[in-house]
Amino acid sequence: MAQLIDGKVLSAQIRAEVKEAVSKRIDSGKRPPYLAVVLIGEDPASASYVHGKAKASAEVGIRSDTMTYDADISEQEVLKIVERLNRDDSVDGILVQLPLPSHIDDRKIINAISPAKDVDCFHPESVGNLVIGLDGFQPATPAGIIEMITRSGIETSGQHCVIIGRSNIVGKPLANLMLKKGIDATVTVCHSRTKNLPEIARQADILVAAIGWPNFVTGDMVKEGAIVIDVGINRVDDASRERGYRLVGDVDFGAAFEKASYITPVPGGVGPMTIAVLLQNTLMAATS
Ligand code: NDP
Repeated sequence: MAQLIDGKVLSAQIRAEVKEAVSKRIDSGKRPPYLAVVLIGEDPASASYVHGKAKASAEVGIRSDTMTYDADISEQEVLKIVERLNRDDSVDGILVQLPLPSHIDDRKIINAISPAKDVDCFHPESVGNLVIGLDGFQPATPAGIIEMITRSGIETSGQHCVIIGRSNIVGKPLANLMLKKGIDATVTVCHSRTKNLPEIARQADILVAAIGWPNFVTGDMVKEGAIVIDVGINRVDDASRERGYRLVGDVDFGAAFEKASYITPVPGGVGPMTIAVLLQNTLMAATS
């Protein structure tokens, strides 16, 4: 039976560390770090993520402003907003909430953000630094996963980490962090064209699921004693809940729980860690 890795507890530790550092910074006469968030359109999920980020920032003493714009704003106007934030010395971090409306090219907007303010770690320069192992902003969800593993005292050196999913926000950056000196995992990344995926998953000492498919990882894909990290956040209908759905991950939790040595729950696992790393990045942007 597995031990739970509690993202709420571990993220609270990180938030407390950031809060202490922010308060020391203010005691020394400096202004609080400032995160500028750009939210475009009415997507309820995006609005809810942005609200969560603003609330978490306020709790640790980081100033954050959310600038909201209608979905029909032009790409040119968004670029101008980013340029203005780049030039504004009082702004430490810039976060443009994705996805953007379809007439706006996400990549163009991300590339326009100053790498010095790129707290999401999506700019090509940030990604390049990550790949060659230089210090810099951390990709929020992958770094949150590394924090969960290392703060739980789990050894990563020489362990075989199998990541299912190769997205630019989870799978690929996580593979790079897992390979980093000091973490030293041996990494396999799987995707929709991978052959014999269950067989590969069964070889994992650390199995990470980042697919977006409820119960994709079944019990027979988990090696006895493996560490299972479930990144997925999926809504499944549930008439017994007031809101009509519940959130589940990509892993069949009950079956994996019986075989794994450690497992992350959904909700309350990787999700809270993501915001905690964003706060760390914003503090770093203010101090560097
Ligand atoms: P993407 O849709 O960008 O990527 C999904 C990946 O899964 C792709 O690489 C895709 O492969 C792969 N995949 C899809 N179907 C299969 C299959 N049948 N077999 C093997 N691989 C498959 O998703 P994200 O990475 O953005 O997110 C993944 C999940 O994590 C989602 O549920 C999302 O909500 C959640 N998430 C949670 C976060 C958190 O804070 N906890 C943060 C970010 C995401 P291919 O590339 O070949 O298409």
